[in-house]
Amino acid sequence: MFKQVELEYAYNALEPYIDALTMETHYEKHHKAYTNNLNGAVEKLNLDNKSIEELLSTLDTIQDEALRKAVRNNGGGFYNHNLYFKSMKPNGSKTPTGELKDLIDETFGSYDNLKDELSKLGANQFGSGWAWLSLTPDNKLVTSSTPNQDNPLMDSSNTPLLGIDVWEHAYYLKYKNLRGDYINAFFEVVNWDEILKNYKEALKK
Ligand code: MN
Repeated sequence: MFKQVELEYAYNALEPYIDALTMETHYEKHHKAYTNNLNGAVEKLNLDNKSIEELLSTLDTIQDEALRKAVRNNGGGFYNHNLYFKSMKPNGSKTPTGELKDLIDETFGSYDNLKDELSKLGANQFGSGWAWLSLTPDNKLVTSSTPNQDNPLMDSSNTPLLGIDVWEHAYYLKYKNLRGDYINAFFEVVNWDEILKNYKEALKK
């Protein structure tokens, strides 16, 4: 059975950047629903022995269209939010560190350039979706965006390191239509130590 990651901070701990009600609703309602619905779908499919990464990278093998869609949407929602909630911490950690900082500088020129790229991808994602920083199988950093709860595992062999949720439910209570302000705020609480950890894990694959 798939379980939501435990939040290592209180709902109000990311204020003023992300407000407590948004955090509570996001985690307790949205993420919980994705998780419950995923568990329902994999139980029907007898696929509850597979890892979430395996499930999302082999969606084509699910014959039943409705169940395939359920795993895509809810499995994506489950995985993406686990990554997202773990990627934040009170006060953030401001800038990338270690080997990941070097690779970011090498790839994008600077951290500011990477932030610009991710901000544009997030702002330009029409409707709901995500902006991503991922690692390719040959260990290069790439950015992308996806609609809905899709992610890079579904249509590439890239491993997501960082995902920015740009669904309105992630920001609308506080930022209303100002998605760009929310993305700026996200960078104030992003935990680059966690992203470095994701990077090191991805390198081992
Ligand atoms: Mn969300």
